[in-house]
Amino acid sequence: MKIISALKKNIFSLSFEVFPPKREGNIESLYETVADLKSLKPHFISVTYGAGGSTRDKTIEIAAHVNNSLKVTALAHLTCVHATKEDIAIILDSLVQHGIENILALRGDPPQGEEKFKPLPGGFVFACDLVSFIADRSDFCIGVAGYPEKHVEAPDLETDLINLKKKVDAGADFIITQLFFFNDDFYRFRDLAERKGIHAPIIPGIFPLINYQQIARTITLCGAKIPAHLAEKLERMKDKPEEAEKYGIEYAIKQSADLLDNGVPGLHFYSMNKSGPVKEIVRNLDLPPSRAELGLE
Ligand code: FAD
Repeated sequence: MKIISALKKNIFSLSFEVFPPKREGNIESLYETVADLKSLKPHFISVTYGAGGSTRDKTIEIAAHVNNSLKVTALAHLTCVHATKEDIAIILDSLVQHGIENILALRGDPPQGEEKFKPLPGGFVFACDLVSFIADRSDFCIGVAGYPEKHVEAPDLETDLINLKKKVDAGADFIITQLFFFNDDFYRFRDLAERKGIHAPIIPGIFPLINYQQIARTITLCGAKIPAHLAEKLERMKDKPEEAEKYGIEYAIKQSADLLDNGVPGLHFYSMNKSGPVKEIVRNLDLPPSRAELGLE
């Protein structure tokens, strides 16, 4: 099922991101998590693509499991890192063979220790080049990344939005955002995108920040601003993980409820391969009816 078809009908889209586990044996545990997430009736589950293309086969295997065994629409992430056009063509063929119809097309981050992203000879420089290649060659529904606080390499939000428009003009159907904690950043981004002529649905990405250790990693990875009171509370609760988790979940519930009040087309939760916190968040939200509840599947 193409993700864009429900979004075009204004059917609310609840979704979750999972990542391929580092250790071989942990795939069964991930499959238990995705089965548990299915109970929340998600529109789709996305599967990340490891840095440097390290999880290529695992991404396809897990996305195929979600799509074909679990019968939940899968969104397979794909990056340009360490890949030529020929490599990408092989992956696209494999996704088609596995019945996967949705791709999140990304450039990817520079490999560890490298400051700048360097494409392979015959590879793609930006995500918009990958989007064009996929759109020209096949019939996938294509999602791309958006950055409410701008991408770390972009000089300013204006420039980043011009580049986001290139991805949409190249054939992207929808946008999922980087995590953020201040909804005003998202609303400003959404308004500016609309003014730039970006009319593709923009789904906010929500990261439940539930322990102090996640903070440094979150800032390093994407530079997101973290509310001082949330950071302080989590620091004070360093030795009380249950209380910290409860506080972080409450923040995510409030953040998501405000986004719902402001008419977002969906909510995409970064699950960190755990179903417990996102289940707690979703159960406390008054979500619009899903496709299943509308009798559409
Ligand atoms: P691009 O859109 O190419 O943008 C990268 C930079 O180049 C930006 O600063 C942009 O402004 C600029 N730019 C873009 N196009 C042009 C152009 N035509 N001319 C000049 N400048 C341009 N990473 C992974 O490795 N695996 C994943 O599974 C993964 N999943 C993600 C999921 C989501 C929802 C998000 C938000 C990010 C994800 N990432 C993932 C991280 C992503 O790969 C990085 O943020 C990466 O640095 C940028 O990828 P992009 O697709 O946004 O790149």
